[in-house]
Amino acid sequence: KLGNVTAKAELGRAAWKVLHTTFARFPEKPTDDEKEALRSFVHLFQRLYPCGECAEHFGKVLAKYPPQVSSRSAAATWGCYVHNIVNKRLGKPEFNCENIGDAYDCGCGDDEPKSKD
Ligand code: FAD
Repeated sequence: KLGNVTAKAELGRAAWKVLHTTFARFPEKPTDDEKEALRSFVHLFQRLYPCGECAEHFGKVLAKYPPQVSSRSAAATWGCYVHNIVNKRLGKPEFNCENIGDAYDCGCGDDEPKSKD
């Protein structure tokens, strides 16, 4: 059981970072296989998420708002939307989803120019 509040928050920040960055790097025009991969990833992420109450709640969110996998912007906007549902439940401020793509562009994709070091 992940009872420690600090550990739970740290895990959450890391988890959201991975999720949003994954959506921001998802192909603009995914193949059916890539769409299925993202859908599975999100559902397995929820299933295996190591905070039980978080996983349980997020399962209900996914049932109501299934992952949007048709494009990068659909995935990123959906990710921002469901994170806001969690924010609301925890009494946190709503995040502006308008520039969500830029907010999580890690510059670490295969289509980025290689760094010299
Ligand atoms: P976080 O919510 O962790 O966000 C990190 C950063 O992301 C923010 O500082 C901001 O820059 C940015 N951000 C904020 N909102 C958005 C958005 N909508 N879209 C994109 N970026 C955004 N904790 C619980 O106590 N109970 C739960 O039930 C619970 N369920 C969770 C379910 C999931 C799937 C995940 C990944 C985490 C869950 N957490 C839960 C953890 C919780 O969401 C936070 O991660 C944690 O409380 C730390 O919050 P924070 O204020 O540092 O910012």
